[in-house]
Amino acid sequence: MTSDVMLKLEGLASAYGKIDAVKGIDLEVKRGQIVTLLGANGAGKTTTLKTISGLVRAKAGRVLFEGNDITGMPAHQIARAGVVHVPEGRHVLRGLSVRENLELGAFTVKDPTLRKDRLEQVFAQFPILRTRANSDGSLLSGGEQQMLAIGRALMHGPKILLLDEPSMGLAPKLVLETMKIVKRLNEGGTTILLVEQNARLALRLAHYGYVLESGVIRLEGEAKQLSADPSIVQAYLGN
Ligand code: ATP
Repeated sequence: MTSDVMLKLEGLASAYGKIDAVKGIDLEVKRGQIVTLLGANGAGKTTTLKTISGLVRAKAGRVLFEGNDITGMPAHQIARAGVVHVPEGRHVLRGLSVRENLELGAFTVKDPTLRKDRLEQVFAQFPILRTRANSDGSLLSGGEQQMLAIGRALMHGPKILLLDEPSMGLAPKLVLETMKIVKRLNEGGTTILLVEQNARLALRLAHYGYVLESGVIRLEGEAKQLSADPSIVQAYLGN
């Protein structure tokens, strides 16, 4: 394994009872990259992210992070190691303020000074969250809730972010805004594994892409190469 590979999946498989959702996939994310995982509904994208972050148990194969086998580790330990998942649907907690939602994200961080510094960094990245710090998180707009979900992940100090459909349900302008945020995070040094329905947009941002179909990787390549081939776009990306 070369040292610039941050995350590596080797023959990873996972199932829900008898339903095989991910059927032995190999995937690499190099340090500093944005890698996108594309595919139709039900292809297994969310399950792949959940298996990496320890929310779903691997049935076979391995997840290597910075060369260490993290397969089967408890989710909080995986997050503490720097692999942080931003789930689909944002999961902003109703009844808690924006600040409390963010502080909850820092449960893995024991040092209070570091927690405070991280909160400051999140507010600096997303000034709207500072403005709304005392508002109930669930009262934010969709775009703001997505910022909050990402902000909460940043409180862990991630080395790699697993982003599950950050643009889902957002108006077109906010979709672009969200993609800019993803780009900015990456430029700031965070490696990103991005699951997206909007394949064209994701490939514009990403360095490398994988196309998942029925739990199997059908296609992979440099993002530019994937998006430049009309037959690929039509056959696999569909939008
Ligand atoms: P989407 O874009 O719709 O989220 P996806 O590519 O992320 O799709 P997954 O959510 O990973 O796909 O689902 C992969 C397969 O696993 C599908 O057949 C789905 O029906 C099944 N599945 C997902 N979650 C569960 C669950 N909790 N219990 C049983 N089957 C599930």
